[in-house]
Amino acid sequence: MKLIIFSLNPFDLEQTLKISKIFVENSSEIIGLTTKESKFKGFDKVYILNNNLTNDIYALLLKDIFDKERANVVIALHNKNHVDILAQFSSLKHLLMFTKVTNITPEKDVSLIEREVLGGSAVLSVRINKASYFSMTLENKKVEYLVANKTPMLFNYDVAYKSRIVVKEVKEKQKSESNLENAEIVIGVGRGFRSKEDLKLAYEIAEILKGAVASTRPIAADFKWMPENSWVGVSSKSIKPKLYIAIGISGAPQHIAGIKDSKTIISINIDKNAPIANYSDYFVVADLYKLLPILINKLKSIKN
Ligand SMILES: Cc1cc2nc3c(=O)[nH]c(=O)nc-3n(C[C@H](O)[C@H](O)[C@H](O)COP(=O)(O)OP(=O)(O)OC[C@H]3O[C@@H](n4cnc5c(N)ncnc54)[C@H](O)[C@@H]3O)c2cc1C
Repeated sequence: MKLIIFSLNPFDLEQTLKISKIFVENSSEIIGLTTKESKFKGFDKVYILNNNLTNDIYALLLKDIFDKERANVVIALHNKNHVDILAQFSSLKHLLMFTKVTNITPEKDVSLIEREVLGGSAVLSVRINKASYFSMTLENKKVEYLVANKTPMLFNYDVAYKSRIVVKEVKEKQKSESNLENAEIVIGVGRGFRSKEDLKLAYEIAEILKGAVASTRPIAADFKWMPENSWVGVSSKSIKPKLYIAIGISGAPQHIAGIKDSKTIISINIDKNAPIANYSDYFVVADLYKLLPILINKLKSIKN
């Protein structure tokens, strides 16, 4: 089996190789595709592509190299661009594609591929023949797998395809104030807050606890009170902090999908029947406007 590991970001190439362990062990050749030269351990070959192309062109280049190398499988880390590129590539090649794969287990002649469905409330398992052709995006995770100590041959691959996408304007994306995925404490804010200004209560708690602030989708996508990349859930990112404090959040399944792996969940809600109670380790029934000022004073006095 020939394996292609794809990553727009060269620094993620080796990490993707590590989490693809089972496929790496069954591959006769491991080929990397990325956009800049770096030190790539564990690959036989790495193709370097231009770094400012549109996704449709990356899909075409991926197809070129897949055909040229007679590869079987393409794997990339799960993120928006990789899903877009692999989807276009898989449709060009009429290949099966699996997204957001969480686990791969080898069995005799087959691999068991698992991915979360229905907002993380169920796991879909697919048995796939080891000789099959397919592409997949894998969830990132910490792994201790040591990759083979080989250094690849590097090739620049530059074919001038013309994109069908016309770029009319490039707008700088609003940056999130904090690195949500790596924060140990996250304060989640929801529609229980009545205005953007009131969110300062949550920010103050985050500052005292050295945490980050996340939101539900309406807060970021509809009200635009927070940057787009601050919302958590099924249509955005998943987080696994040590502590998640959900304030004024009802606990819709789409939000729970993004926070359910938090170690401890504390929620504050005025409604004792709010569904988030079912997912919380501690559930406080209170008006956030009354409770948060008291909590902030208490935390400040403990800190001092
Ligand atoms: C296709 C699709 C994808 C979606 N993806 C996501 C996603 O990725 N992430 C996401 O978050 N949502 C997502 N949603 C939206 C989701 O369904 C919910 O609408 C959303 O999560 C609800 O946000 P909320 O909890 O802030 O608001 P609400 O559901 O309105 O809850 C507000 C809560 O605040 C409480 N409250 C009110 N006043 C106070 C007070 N003074 N003090 C304390 N508590 C108070 C209320 O009791 C209530 O429980 C998606 C929806 C769809 C259809």
